[in-house]
Amino acid sequence: MSLNAADTTTNNTTTITTEDKESAVSRCDSPPWYSHPGIERCHVQNKFNTLSDLLTCYQNAEEQQRIQDHKSTGIKFILISSKGMWHENVSATISSPLYLTTVQLMKILLMTKTISVDDSGNSNSNSNSNSNSNNCNNDIINNQDDDSHDYKQHITVNEDHITSYIGKYEDVDYWVVYLKDGNMKEKDDAESHYELKSIMSTPTMFTAGRKIQCKPLREFGDSLENAHDSGIVATANGLIEFHKSHGYCSRCGSPTESTKAGGSRRCTRDTCRTTVYPRIDSATIMLVTSPCENYALLGRKKNWPVGRYSALAGFCEVGETLEECCQRETLEESGVRIDPVSVRFELSQPWPFPRSLMVGFRARAATTTTARSTICNKNTEESSSSSSSSSSLEFLPEITIDTNEMEDIRWFHKRFVKERLSLVGSTALSFQPNDDEKEFHIPGKASLARYLITKWAKENR
Ligand SMILES: [Zn+2]
Repeated sequence: MSLNAADTTTNNTTTITTEDKESAVSRCDSPPWYSHPGIERCHVQNKFNTLSDLLTCYQNAEEQQRIQDHKSTGIKFILISSKGMWHENVSATISSPLYLTTVQLMKILLMTKTISVDDSGNSNSNSNSNSNSNNCNNDIINNQDDDSHDYKQHITVNEDHITSYIGKYEDVDYWVVYLKDGNMKEKDDAESHYELKSIMSTPTMFTAGRKIQCKPLREFGDSLENAHDSGIVATANGLIEFHKSHGYCSRCGSPTESTKAGGSRRCTRDTCRTTVYPRIDSATIMLVTSPCENYALLGRKKNWPVGRYSALAGFCEVGETLEECCQRETLEESGVRIDPVSVRFELSQPWPFPRSLMVGFRARAATTTTARSTICNKNTEESSSSSSSSSSLEFLPEITIDTNEMEDIRWFHKRFVKERLSLVGSTALSFQPNDDEKEFHIPGKASLARYLITKWAKENR
């Protein structure tokens, strides 16, 4: 059933590689995608808790000065709703996060009735086309010249939504707001979508021809241009997932409330008051090679797009080290035993779908001299056809696939993989592969798997 290594190397119909293209998709020198240092959270977590706190503060000049004293030069918001994260399509293959100013956010909250203003207020005005800066403090200050005094006097915030502080990057404070389904159901989806676009599609924020879209982050993460953006939106995604799944206390079942600007949740029952923090699940992802390191063990799940193969991975279990997890998961999924002393750490990556920390390893399969006809030859990168009679030959360990977890697992020769590194691929489950990618592709640049596989494929041994 399983295609052997000789097949994967001899059926080479794709002629691709140029070093330029390879370097464009290789991330060997980049920080892990989706990582965000999360520095300087305390000054915000100790100061704000709810969106009411924040919006009230931002209408108050004295408070704004205090924010500036903390060296914050502005505030930007990420918006998430039930269908995913709102973002901007710069082109067919490039996206950027949709960072909202405070004024834009307030207009959206008004539209979705997440905030309300009494009759004397005039906050629900037309789009503020005079605002031409992404600096939110400036937006607020400018806006106070016309109608934002009304916000200050009459605003009421429905705290049914979820708000969380993401962190600071280059002196800008980033927040995420999740609009629950109820907020969007006042009108049908199409109408809400249209209004949302009309609010956000101001000339100051969007270039003609660009589109805003709402999708799960995993579906567009590869198309983000900047690593720091990927870290901000991934942190936003992970925090919202935490809040959505921890609405009730795990000790007593009472409702919980957001605390520390969305950095934790606390039980509302006086006799309990248990606090919970965002949980992170450790998972290992391991690039397992043959003993000679010319072949890599790659597999695919049934629900992945056609042609996608990746390194094996799995969650760490109670009482287990990460290294032991590598060995157990590889054995369970593929039947291949890893040489324990060969397991070494490579790189880790936040994987907020919903809350994993992927810990990347490299390992070698244990030597076998009895298993299969395909030979793992130490002396050449060519796939051998068993022509040598040397007693030192090692065989590729036999693969026994756990079909409950994986659809296919194979040994792939380094040359076969290297020739396909210029295929950009994707980590999106909705990815539509082209003809070359249907034969074989690895996940996109957002994944630690791509880093591990690329690094191995480019090694000269
Ligand atoms: Zn409780």
